[in-house]
Amino acid sequence: MEGGKALVDYHVHTPMCGHAVGELEDYVKAAQARGLHEIGFSDHLIFHMDNRDYSMPLKQFPLYIKAVEAVQRRFPRYQVKVGVEVDYFQGENDVIKSTFQGEPLDYVLGSVHCINGWVFDDERYISEYKRRDIDEFYEEYFKLVQEAALSGLFDVIAHPDVIKKFGYKPIRGIKSLYIETVQAFKEAGICVEVNTSGLRKPVHEIYPSVEFLKLCFEKGLPVTLGSDAHSPEEVGWCFDKAVDLLRNVGYREITVFTGRKRKAVMLE
Ligand code: ZN
Ligand code: FE
Ligand code: FE
Ligand code: ZN
Repeated sequence: MEGGKALVDYHVHTPMCGHAVGELEDYVKAAQARGLHEIGFSDHLIFHMDNRDYSMPLKQFPLYIKAVEAVQRRFPRYQVKVGVEVDYFQGENDVIKSTFQGEPLDYVLGSVHCINGWVFDDERYISEYKRRDIDEFYEEYFKLVQEAALSGLFDVIAHPDVIKKFGYKPIRGIKSLYIETVQAFKEAGICVEVNTSGLRKPVHEIYPSVEFLKLCFEKGLPVTLGSDAHSPEEVGWCFDKAVDLLRNVGYREITVFTGRKRKAVMLE
């Protein structure tokens, strides 16, 4: 991290989740080639369903940690962090907490991808949006995101408005939902992820929206960066756009994590 400046990609998957490709060391090489100061792996872990389409099986979690540690040893002079992306689901707080007890994790991302059995960010189930009241669904989504933040299980809320992924936007009430959600983030003391993967999706926007990020800045919430890479080519995806967005909103710092402790560094 030269001169205390940093650009990091903390949202990177691995083939262990069943839907990403490439060797771990190729992800690291891609991060180096793009001039990032750190890469953090954060593969999917889902407790509430055993589905090889979405996540490594729970019993493979120790193997995942070992795989990242092996790549850390291969790149001793480069910052390779070990994280995980957990799908938040009500009633699983104890098992999530105990699973991570004593593990050498640098950070835990919390995400909401699934509500009442509908994996709403999976394009195979996109037709369900047409059957829904989008305003109500946004409300349901953001309530769950607030709950995830307040659970105390996570260091970062990943892609806070991933619900817009396929371009379905609410007609009313979005501003008050944003305010309420950012307030919950503030109470939780949680870090917000600026995630560029939305630029690769039908919505063609970064998560979260500029309106949401402005509210985060006003509340003094810390931010970090992720590409949600599912292949080495996607590491650091469109980070120039993410940095522009952060600067335009007013951010000059981003957050780095070590052993689940956070530190603010100047944004490169
Ligand atoms: Zn994924
Ligand atoms: Fe996700
Ligand atoms: Fe992800
Ligand atoms: Zn993700």
